[in-house]
Amino acid sequence: MEFAAFAERAEAMAAEDGDLATVGLVAESLTAAGDDLGIVARFLRGAVFPGWDGRKLSVGPSLCHEALARAAGANVTADDVETRLAETGEIGAVAAGLDLGGQTGLSAFGGGTGGGDLTVREVYDDLVAVAEATGDGSESVRLDTLFGLFTRASPTEAKYLARLVLGEMRLGVGGGALRDATAEAFLDAAVTTPADEREEDDRTAELIGLVERALQVTNDHGRVAELARDEGEPGLRDVSLAVGRPVRSMLAQAGTVSDALDAWETAAVETKFDGARVQIHYEDAAHDDDTADAETGPVSIYSRNMEDVTAALPELVEHVRDHATPPAIIDGEAVAVDDDSEPLPFQEILRRFRRKYDVDRMREEVRVELRAFDCLHADGDDLLDAPLTERHDRLHETLEAGVSELLVSADAEAIESFEADALEAGHEGVMLKRPDSTYSPGDRGKDWLKRKPDVETLDLVVTGAEWGEGRRAELFGTFEVAVRVGDDYATVGKVATGISDEELADLTDRLEPHVTTESGQTVTFAPEVVFEVGYEEIQTSPTYDSGYALRFPRFLAVREDKPPADADDLTRVRRLAGDE
Ligand code: AMP
Repeated sequence: MEFAAFAERAEAMAAEDGDLATVGLVAESLTAAGDDLGIVARFLRGAVFPGWDGRKLSVGPSLCHEALARAAGANVTADDVETRLAETGEIGAVAAGLDLGGQTGLSAFGGGTGGGDLTVREVYDDLVAVAEATGDGSESVRLDTLFGLFTRASPTEAKYLARLVLGEMRLGVGGGALRDATAEAFLDAAVTTPADEREEDDRTAELIGLVERALQVTNDHGRVAELARDEGEPGLRDVSLAVGRPVRSMLAQAGTVSDALDAWETAAVETKFDGARVQIHYEDAAHDDDTADAETGPVSIYSRNMEDVTAALPELVEHVRDHATPPAIIDGEAVAVDDDSEPLPFQEILRRFRRKYDVDRMREEVRVELRAFDCLHADGDDLLDAPLTERHDRLHETLEAGVSELLVSADAEAIESFEADALEAGHEGVMLKRPDSTYSPGDRGKDWLKRKPDVETLDLVVTGAEWGEGRRAELFGTFEVAVRVGDDYATVGKVATGISDEELADLTDRLEPHVTTESGQTVTFAPEVVFEVGYEEIQTSPTYDSGYALRFPRFLAVREDKPPADADDLTRVRRLAGDE
């Protein structure tokens, strides 16, 4: 495709407000793209390379301005370009307004036709050269190459060339529009309603879903468009993960234990590790010769944004080499730990992640370990569509150390106590996952919920307790906690989780002298001690005399500094419950 034709089509898209009309224009462009389909699809999104591809143009605004100024001739400087940019606010308009290639430089480049002879493929090839220029002199290679392109561009071409190299196409073509257009152009999907109004069950939705899935797996609009055109539905259904080519990470929404159990009945719970997301690709040794990097072998590690961070994390590479079986794609968290493998604060991992220099020295200062929690591919099997629990089993088979503990339970208390243990161990919370959910790359859906400790806590007076059982018969087990109501106290819940054995012994010693009545297992206390209590939710409830009940209350600490008269009152509870 001529680059001029691409630019004209881009101009039409930029001028179109309607979503459906835009999809139609994109579909027409894809159909007209011929051999350049992959490139055109990516260019329309302002990308030169697929999402998984680590190559970057490394063209910042000043380089682009310099190239434009040079192409505009001796009378225009980069400062002039910047002044014009300040006036118009948009580089495409500035580029279109310059008289490019009309003066110096033309004879040297044999162009000067004012556009018309550039092709999409030439632009692509030149931008690949820009991205791949390295070392001394790479800056001038980039500048010369861009200058060469701009001198050959018509005003409209220059507009979209400038926008493309800066990654800001402004066509109003989102990922959804390109996806829908791909289905319309090559799968006969009739896109007649915008995405947000579309019925989920019709044929069009099915075809669009197929394209979407292929995009998730490949992270390449270009390749998906080519597959749709050349191999149709079967081709798209067949696309598979490639070990060594990263996919986007599945993400989580905030949620509570009650949200999880209400929706799924059973929840899979695991520690929420406070580190940096890593996706580890371990290629089969058979592929070594083609793919291995001399330093790291066939292990590559990607960040949540699919950036290659392998070089920064040599101990994870070693860990995977020592404990995993290729081929595999493992999802997990890189955490900074102390000498006992206990978690360190999040800031510590930042000192290691993405580090390019002094990796060995920093390795001495901050230790990093893997906490793996998912497996996308094992032993030749793509697992994206397998249920979470099966993926976790496969993870255990694939990796013999550093795998997260997964508890699948329908029992809120068991989950609560798992959470209390996680917090006790210094982690930031837990993840709750739907046990039968598939892995949905890039999706921040409702199948994964992150549950962090409460932001708001309550300071509550301990008004009663129950003796423990078995080996804890000598200790209090469950504590009744209450809010202040004037000079009196009204119960809001019973706290049994979040308390270590040591703390339980201490609390028993401290509270026993304040017992006022005892009946069977149950005692009441004079109001003396205040607990700081975390919880998930406050509900109205007839169970307690306050009229409210804390869901999943958790002991956090004794408020040594607070007398019962300063504990929280019923008004605060009402407010937190949303009743005031
Ligand atoms: P947030 O960054 O607060 O949105 O929380 C989601 C992030 O938690 C994920 O992207 C992971 O990096 C991280 N995470 C830590 N532990 C887990 C786990 N067990 N399962 C999934 N994600 C986890």
